Amino acid sequence: MQFSDIAGQHEIKRRLIQTVLENRISHARLFLGPEGSGSLPLALAYAQYISCEDRSEEDSCGVCSSCRKYSRLIHPDLHFSYPFFAKHKDDTALSFIEEWREAFLANPYLGLDEWRDQLDAENKQANINIAECHQIIKKLSLKPFESEYKVLLMWLPEYLDKEGNTLLKIIEEPPQKTLFLLVAQSQDQILNTILSRTQLIKIPRLKDGEVKEFLLGKLHLQEDHAARIAYLSEGNIQTAIKLSKEESNNNFGLFTGWLRMCFGNRGMQVVDFAETASRLGRENQKNFLRYGTKLMREVMMILAGSDNLVHLPQNEKEFVGNFGRTVDLASAEAIVNELEKAHYHIERNANAKILFLDVSLQFIKILKFKTLPKGTQYIYS
Ligand SMILES: [Zn+2]
Repeated sequence: MQFSDIAGQHEIKRRLIQTVLENRISHARLFLGPEGSGSLPLALAYAQYISCEDRSEEDSCGVCSSCRKYSRLIHPDLHFSYPFFAKHKDDTALSFIEEWREAFLANPYLGLDEWRDQLDAENKQANINIAECHQIIKKLSLKPFESEYKVLLMWLPEYLDKEGNTLLKIIEEPPQKTLFLLVAQSQDQILNTILSRTQLIKIPRLKDGEVKEFLLGKLHLQEDHAARIAYLSEGNIQTAIKLSKEESNNNFGLFTGWLRMCFGNRGMQVVDFAETASRLGRENQKNFLRYGTKLMREVMMILAGSDNLVHLPQNEKEFVGNFGRTVDLASAEAIVNELEKAHYHIERNANAKILFLDVSLQFIKILKFKTLPKGTQYIYS
């Protein structure tokens, strides 16, 4: 995780880098910020920066041996601690390290709910137990293997049991070249004794513009779509990712259902669809049409001979594969043209209900008169 991978927070990044450049690395630091603000990835990027063999004044290099191990969370001097649901009293964070790596690498902005899902422990109480505290003390008594420092990154120290006080001595007088990086969300739920022994760095919620930039750059959303989701997510990247996934799932269901009813020439359903679509609101309608365009372009790519679908989510992958066997390139292109035309007219305040009815009729024509080789399976009937 490099600083450049993280949304916004430029001032915090600058301050963290400054501590390293000026040799003011504090041995216990508490990153305190609301969920989705990026405090967890920031703490990790900070550790990677400290450990990097070829850092610049702006970021870690991303390619040295240390950075490569950091990027997979397998550096031998990087230790993680986090709440978990212990199945046995001897379980420690290490028992769940594979799940942790998977969850973090999929989404470094993850929140506790997502982590619970990953552990399949929905209604159970997660915590950082006494066995884990002993494990931490044991791990940190070792000398660093490869880096100058060994790092313990603890996510959500709020979930330390009372036994967390076992850690006080090691936080106050850590073994040489040991760093504690704690990442928390609510100051008043952290053991006071621990709070008083750490240097606090407050991470603010992200600005809407920073979330928007992230959505444009990482999720490749369109400008106005990204702006709307950024506004709704209130500075929380985790919420922003969730919202855009939900929208994409809704659009997937609506769009593939639409094609299916047009393929089957089901008039009554088409009328209902036009009614539903007309109530979405103009922004959602544009977003829906763009989504359809994007999906149909993937179908065109397949028909043009490029079969690289790995970047698509499973449901889209299946759809594109199946639909690609049902239409020819000219039909897919004609559908894309209709969607683009519709987008143009929605932007110019066309009557949505009439427009969606009209586009449906065009789809029915396109799908009815398509030319297909013999033996083609009709999946959408
Ligand atoms: Zn490096």
